[in-house]
Amino acid sequence: MQKNSKKVKICIVGSGYVGLVTGACLASVGHEVICIDKDRQRIKKLKQGIIPIYEPGLKKMVRKNLQEGRLTFSHVLGKAVEKSEAVFIAVGTPSSRRGDGYADLSYVYQVAEGIAPHLKSYKVVINKSTVPVGTAKQVARIIKENNPRAEFDVISNPEFLREGVAVTDFLEPDRVVVGTSSKRAKKIMERIYGFVKGSERLFFVANVQTAELVKYASNAFLATKISFINEIANLCEKVGADVVDVAKGMGKDKRIGSAFLKAGAGYGGSCFPKDVKALLRIAQENESSLRIVEMVSEVNNAQKARMVRKIRQALGENEINKTVLFLGLTFKADTDDLREAPVLTIIPALIERGIKVVAHDPQGIKEAKQELPLAVKYAKNPYQGAKNVDVVVLMTDWEEYKNLDLEKLKQAMKKPVFVDLRNVFQPEEMKKLGFEYISVGR
Ligand code: NAD
Repeated sequence: MQKNSKKVKICIVGSGYVGLVTGACLASVGHEVICIDKDRQRIKKLKQGIIPIYEPGLKKMVRKNLQEGRLTFSHVLGKAVEKSEAVFIAVGTPSSRRGDGYADLSYVYQVAEGIAPHLKSYKVVINKSTVPVGTAKQVARIIKENNPRAEFDVISNPEFLREGVAVTDFLEPDRVVVGTSSKRAKKIMERIYGFVKGSERLFFVANVQTAELVKYASNAFLATKISFINEIANLCEKVGADVVDVAKGMGKDKRIGSAFLKAGAGYGGSCFPKDVKALLRIAQENESSLRIVEMVSEVNNAQKARMVRKIRQALGENEINKTVLFLGLTFKADTDDLREAPVLTIIPALIERGIKVVAHDPQGIKEAKQELPLAVKYAKNPYQGAKNVDVVVLMTDWEEYKNLDLEKLKQAMKKPVFVDLRNVFQPEEMKKLGFEYISVGR
């Protein structure tokens, strides 16, 4: 990676997964970055180099740039905006609390109002949050209403990083999508992203609506791949095929690719579920049908329900008061993020039926205690958790679980029944070890 010689003064509003990674990475390539958050506790901790989230490599990067003075934190918006050339909006855009699938843009609009009086010289306002088509226009309207003399462009620069590998994804992106028709804004963006190797080739500039839609269309497409392979997995179970090999065979075709073809318990996380729903709303509002995407969401719900049935079948008759150990709670490995994780549906469904649940996760327990029913018990390690349980369910493919001492685990269990919802282990080997082994699509 080339160091950026054209330093830009940058303000990032929202210091969560995306804002913090963006801030730390942009500081690490030489920009002067101030990260803002309305959560004072979060800012207080960040100033001391304490990171509120688990993301590999982030802590070291934040501390280094904090020490070297390129990265600062504040909860005060005004001054930070005034001395910056570029203002990123990186606040959350969750599904609305009404449950209708619309993206809740209130945080984005609050930021627009908050920054407006401080746009005293030209600034580029960059929507990094995932937002519906038309949001950049709304942000510009709000700014103008609150400061008619403000000089600015609102542009779209959606983020494609994946939690767990966010730092690498940000520093070595597949593409940098910029939605703007302003030459001035584009030039600033080129300076900001000058560190990206081959940036001329990876820079993709389009109109703002297109950039906004690229993000939703990409996430919906990836979710489609997951729902597709999950349905193929279900068929595999009926016809005696092995979905891992089917996916391998498919993925060797360059037109298809092997990514996102892993069968499992259904997609979760802070992005796919809400983005799929929001895209459907955008389509509906514009009288356009997206029938494939509608099915993607339905198939995903059905997959989670199937997993509940799979676990219940593994428990056998008289399931009441039997105990299941969940290994992994987060929606994927290497994150502490539990938002929309399949366990949030699967575990309550089991508890409702009188089944007892013990859980372990290397990073997700703190959040799980707030999100899961109180009846869930938490184990310090997988072996302690496996004591006298009837079934172990491998939910998240953390490295720690791939390297389990399976013999030790089996010894602790009441019955050696292993439900592998990530297809981590080999059926033959598990049988040899004496497990009744159930996986997905094989
Ligand atoms: P997050 O919830 O982790 O962080 C959002 C932060 O914004 C919080 O710390 C919150 O306190 C802060 N905030 C809210 N309103 C604010 C305000 N008015 N002023 C200052 N701070 C404010 O969210 P996230 O996961 O970082 O997601 C941010 C956006 O990026 C979303 O639109 C999301 O869809 C998108 N995105 C997320 C990911 C991901 O993997 N998490 C990847 C790509 C895109």
